[in-house]
Amino acid sequence: MTIAIALYLFIVGLVCGSFFNVVGLRVPAKQSVIRPPSHCTSCQTQLRRRDLVPVFSWLLSRGRCRHCGAQVSFVYPLGELVTGLLFAGLFLRFGLSLELISALLLSSLSVIITVSDLKYMLIPNKVLLFFLPLLIAARVLHHELPLWQYLVGALFGGGILLLVHLFSGGRMGFGDIKLFAVLGFVIGFPNTVVALLLACLLGVIVGGALQLLGLIERKQPVPFGPFLAVGSLIAYAFGQAIIDGYFSILFA
Ligand SMILES: [Zn+2]
Repeated sequence: MTIAIALYLFIVGLVCGSFFNVVGLRVPAKQSVIRPPSHCTSCQTQLRRRDLVPVFSWLLSRGRCRHCGAQVSFVYPLGELVTGLLFAGLFLRFGLSLELISALLLSSLSVIITVSDLKYMLIPNKVLLFFLPLLIAARVLHHELPLWQYLVGALFGGGILLLVHLFSGGRMGFGDIKLFAVLGFVIGFPNTVVALLLACLLGVIVGGALQLLGLIERKQPVPFGPFLAVGSLIAYAFGQAIIDGYFSILFA
């Protein structure tokens, strides 16, 4: 039964991921997420049903538009696959519980802002404002920690990045500050601390690797939102285990 539900949520995730790609790409460009229907961005041909099957359509057409042959970014199938894996994985972690509502909302928000931030270096307020009341409702409905720990998570997340913003001459964007306040609220304190450390660690590793490979310039800014999202998701699922592991090594 568990496998069946996980598989079901994986497929739901693939379909949702397809929509999240559209939201992440269109909202910052001030376009409607419903109209026009999905189309090739190169030749504008509207996609048919067989072009809209998550991941598979992209694989079958070898990442090209069927009509004009223009390359279709691998970000589309990747966003779908990641959402599917997150939905299934978070179900395996939290089970069919009320916590799963927060988990699915958190992963949805993470995928959308990652697409936006990678494409436009922007985390849209509209997306944050859409998710905020849903996330608050889900947390009030169900919270494993006392509610104040989630509020501290939000204050710590937003507060620490605000400090970075002030002391770095504005190199930390307000989008990141708001995002991490929202993420901090969902994952709570002290998970927010783990999330921040993971985000910085990942940022340094990935940023360094991209520089070594010559894919980005030395001083080129790298969007930080995706790292905050990944760090928060890892901390959310495994934060307590990471904290326990860290202290057991420290005091071994
Ligand atoms: Zn085309």
